[in-house]
Amino acid sequence: MTKILHRTIGTTLPTAVAGEGIYVVDSEGRSYLDGSGGAAVSCLGHNHPEVLDAMKLQMGRISYAHTSFFTTDVAERLAEQLVELAPEGLDYVYLVSGGSEAVEAALKMARQYFVEVGQPQRRHIIARRQSYHGNTIGALATGGNAWRRAQFKPILPETHHVSPCYAYRDLQVGETPEAYAERLAAELEDKVLELGADKVMAFVAEPVVGATLGAVGPVSDYFKRVRQVCDKYGILLILDEVMCGMGRTGTIFAMEQEGIVADLVTIAKGLGGGFQPIGAVLLSEKIYRAFADGSGLFQHGHTYIGHPIAAAAASKVVEIITRADMMANVIRMGKRLQAGLDEALGQSPYVGDIRGRGLFRGVEIVADKDTKQPFDPARKMHSRIKKEAMRRGLMCYPMGGTIDGAQGDHVLLAPPYIIQPEEIDLIVERLSDAIRAAV
Ligand code: PLP
Repeated sequence: MTKILHRTIGTTLPTAVAGEGIYVVDSEGRSYLDGSGGAAVSCLGHNHPEVLDAMKLQMGRISYAHTSFFTTDVAERLAEQLVELAPEGLDYVYLVSGGSEAVEAALKMARQYFVEVGQPQRRHIIARRQSYHGNTIGALATGGNAWRRAQFKPILPETHHVSPCYAYRDLQVGETPEAYAERLAAELEDKVLELGADKVMAFVAEPVVGATLGAVGPVSDYFKRVRQVCDKYGILLILDEVMCGMGRTGTIFAMEQEGIVADLVTIAKGLGGGFQPIGAVLLSEKIYRAFADGSGLFQHGHTYIGHPIAAAAASKVVEIITRADMMANVIRMGKRLQAGLDEALGQSPYVGDIRGRGLFRGVEIVADKDTKQPFDPARKMHSRIKKEAMRRGLMCYPMGGTIDGAQGDHVLLAPPYIIQPEEIDLIVERLSDAIRAAV
């Protein structure tokens, strides 16, 4: 009998005993193609020898050094690498241990920034419905995922939500993408004015929505419009790239494709590639300067921030994903995945939309393709697809069914960046079979 409180109680999970490239092997000898990188984490597959070597090297030096006493060369190097890769304007890095921690830190940075610059009345956070920013109290309050929030709502701090940019369901008949972007920006501006233009602290969004919608990117112009609204009212823009960042969409940062730079950016998942738990917040000079010239500190901190082995692993992951052909492979394989899914599932009456960027793809499952009616949540379509896929030796990341708005089930695919054409074709084949068996 297990002594672990597993995510779902009463189901028997296979025991993972080995990782081999893009495959995970269980104790029965079955192997699973990691088509989702776990939850968009394993960007280099499993057991990458160079990352293991970097970790071993660091373990032989020093495994832990508390950040109130020391810095380490690996943490400093990682920060330099990230700043070098980030769009101009993001000049400093705060290292944490995961995505939720990164979001919490970013929210506290935003708040402290306004305290430092003499605008303590700014306290409101606006985010989007159908978003996910983590499971800790502040991050959960920020996200708009109704199912995840439901029972905790009474203890969550107050936050505010506007519509996500979700063209498949919300673009109106005859509306251009530009007009849609304008409509959403107007909705955001209305919300700012309703709350008080000088009382809003931050707007938080995932550039490409991961867990809640399944690889839904914005229409062009959307983030430019959002940036304009934030600038007009002096609001900080926090982009959550925990899932879509670190090369997942074909550029190191997803925001690069939107032509904007946020004030604060959260990253995790692909940063450590699953080799170590690590996340980070990138922040602008403006915010750093307010802290440096003000109180002289950021009033935050966890025991494991800047962990040397995590930093060593992430530094190597970053070095590898920025090598010459890596992003090119993400783009090439992403196109192949999209084309394969279009061909295999495009005509299915139960597949409403296939979308995404790079190696971040989503398949939306519907009961009726014409009306876009989702399946009854009671049918737990996402769970059935996951089970059928695992049976066929495929890890994919199906979610949904119980989220507010007219959103149903979707399957998220996020395979490692090192994936090859024949493995992409295997994902398509196994997922199509799994969906056909489940619906
Ligand atoms: N933000 C986004 C966009 C995410 O997708 C996630 C996790 O899925 C998180 C934050 C939370 O990250 P973590 O699970 O590492 O705490």
